[in-house]
Amino acid sequence: MKIITDPLELKNYLKDKNQSVGFIPTMGALHEGHISLINAAKAENEIVVVSIFVNPTQFLKGEDLDKYPSREDADKKICSLVGVDILFFPDADDIYGSDEVTLQAPNVRGYVLEGRSRPGHFSGVLTVVMKLLNIVSPSRAYFGKKDAQQLNLIMLMVKQLFMSVEIVPVDTVREADGLALSSRNIYLSEFDRKEALKISASLRLCSVMVSKNILDTKEILESMRETLYPLEIAYVEILNRDFKKIEQVEIGNSIVLVEAISGETRLLDNIWL
Ligand code: AMP
Repeated sequence: MKIITDPLELKNYLKDKNQSVGFIPTMGALHEGHISLINAAKAENEIVVVSIFVNPTQFLKGEDLDKYPSREDADKKICSLVGVDILFFPDADDIYGSDEVTLQAPNVRGYVLEGRSRPGHFSGVLTVVMKLLNIVSPSRAYFGKKDAQQLNLIMLMVKQLFMSVEIVPVDTVREADGLALSSRNIYLSEFDRKEALKISASLRLCSVMVSKNILDTKEILESMRETLYPLEIAYVEILNRDFKKIEQVEIGNSIVLVEAISGETRLLDNIWL
């Protein structure tokens, strides 16, 4: 495995290759969720590139940028073991200069759900993803469905800015007890982790209700809120795949999204129905 920190070195290295490239952008502290993205990329591409970059512009003031988990050595070992070809490990100074050109997340879709509690977060996400895609120029880039709003906005960016990369969504990987894997799960105390299981339980309840042909979103959301109690709920919503509110679940075109805070940790999860 090659480790590259300089964006232009990586760009030049890949330019001469003339092979299909699968790209997985991450913020490190790698877990099985990241590995499933890597495996999906390995199955479809000749070269697999992973980036590890904790992007400062997607953190708001007072968020966990400074204490975001960093596991550089373990991450390098994982990437090497699972067969990553190139690990891109830039510094913030390699990616950002002063007086920057930036992308602005769309006014509606970028400022609902997670964007409401974290205004500006998705502008930072889109800006860094654009930069990373321009450095790597991958044939395909892999993103988790777990971050459904992020995935939706990146697909919108690729479409609206006429970019050539194919965005590949990958299913959420969970612990055996249902908790969606996240680098932030290490913040959870034993108690908070137990409470956090209410998030996946609420989503399971939703799919059971839908399987019993209960499709009224108000009724489902009420039951989900009861299951989530007493967690602090940032939002629980049922939207269509264009992120618009719906009154009835549309099978094959709906996403059920929850963001809740366990202890002090914001946790996201969703299911696609
Ligand atoms: P992060 O390092 O948290 O920025 O995540 C990097 C990529 O991994 C994003 O596309 C995430 O959606 C994806 N990801 C994170 N957790 C999971 C998971 N549990 N299952 C599948 N993909 C995930």
